[in-house]
Amino acid sequence: MAGSATAHALAERGCEVMVLVLEAADSATSSATPSHSLPVGLLAPHHGADDNPLSQLSRLGVAATTRAAQALLQQGIDWQPCGALQRAGKLGPQARWHPDAAWVKPAALVAAWLAHPRITLRTGAQVRQLRPLQGAGTAWQALDAQGGVLAIADAVVLANAYQAQALLLGLPDGMLPLANTPAIGKATALPLHQVAGQVAYGPWDSAWQALWPRLLPELANYSPTSSSAHSPCAINGNGHFIPAIAWQGSSIWLSGSTYEHEVPVPQVTAQGLASNIQRLQQLIPAAADLLAAQVSAGQVQAWAGARCTTRDRLPAVGAVPLADATGLYLCTGMGSRGLSFAALCGQHVAACITGAADSPLPAHLQQAIDAARLW
Ligand SMILES: Cc1cc2nc3c(=O)[nH]c(=O)nc-3n(C[C@H](O)[C@H](O)[C@H](O)COP(=O)(O)OP(=O)(O)OC[C@H]3O[C@@H](n4cnc5c(N)ncnc54)[C@H](O)[C@@H]3O)c2cc1C
Repeated sequence: MAGSATAHALAERGCEVMVLVLEAADSATSSATPSHSLPVGLLAPHHGADDNPLSQLSRLGVAATTRAAQALLQQGIDWQPCGALQRAGKLGPQARWHPDAAWVKPAALVAAWLAHPRITLRTGAQVRQLRPLQGAGTAWQALDAQGGVLAIADAVVLANAYQAQALLLGLPDGMLPLANTPAIGKATALPLHQVAGQVAYGPWDSAWQALWPRLLPELANYSPTSSSAHSPCAINGNGHFIPAIAWQGSSIWLSGSTYEHEVPVPQVTAQGLASNIQRLQQLIPAAADLLAAQVSAGQVQAWAGARCTTRDRLPAVGAVPLADATGLYLCTGMGSRGLSFAALCGQHVAACITGAADSPLPAHLQQAIDAARLW
């Protein structure tokens, strides 16, 4: 998401250059195979009592992604504004209605962002190392595992989530932090973390449709603008539930997510599935029996992936603050909110690269997400 959003933002700026996306996987966009990417995600603002930078950024981000979806995606197929009811509980003493919430298929958004005449996508291209090109101004070489040159570019954006850390730590030894003192030396780790997790999804069938109007009594008090009490909306709380998602000719529901630390390779597990179902049964108790029936009928599937997180839950975006690293940028740390952050962060990093003064972010949010805080 972050890579394709950045590429699109750069291409849209009319740079007289090609934007090359190097993607390690065999496909960046295959929406037909849910195993490759998160099948569907929830786009919803974070609400903090003190309206902190995370809340402000997520509001701007939801608006940016919504604009992208409106311009590039098919409503009802690739995304759907649905509103979200945040149930009272851990996140706040009162239920809250989020009229801006939507479900979005990340693979469709990525495909739409990459479908630009100035963007070239090269899949199966895993970058193992970055090297500044001596004597060529600020150009960079991206090398593969055998040391072969995958690409040469004036500017490089590392938008490869947690894997950005390995490339940054593998930079030549002389590229120490700009504010470095001899005592600190070269960083051996950056405060980026990988948190694996999985979602569950199953058929949104006639039994669910019949149950929906009786599912949550408090729904009748909400959704005055964008949705009626009877049209399916997302439900948020401890985890989330997205109903009535158009999926390969029929409909599914999707719910998540687990947070699994210390799991280097994300995978679907029976334990993860059980934990998602249990959480969902607590989020919407009236659906407990129906869920149990779908699970025992083998109708519920799962998808596993990983998030790249930072300590302050904000993305890490902007120039890499190392000596002689002109032209090297970072756009990572999207956490559990890639749908809320990628579009906005892609536009911001594109503004940084082109030197334009039109970042969509106010100065204090630019500072809050500045990649330099990782060093
Ligand atoms: C279970 C689960 C549920 C989630 N639900 C939601 C949700 O409802 N809403 C939401 O907004 N977000 C959700 N997220 C979070 C969302 O998936 C992430 O925020 C988002 O994927 C981050 O995008 P990204 O582009 O930074 O990283 P990624 O999506 O991880 O993409 C990184 C890409 O870089 C490539 N790559 C890595 N290393 C290299 C290399 N060396 N060379 C070339 N390519 C490389 C990878 O192949 C990959 O394609 C969820 C995540 C999980 C795990």
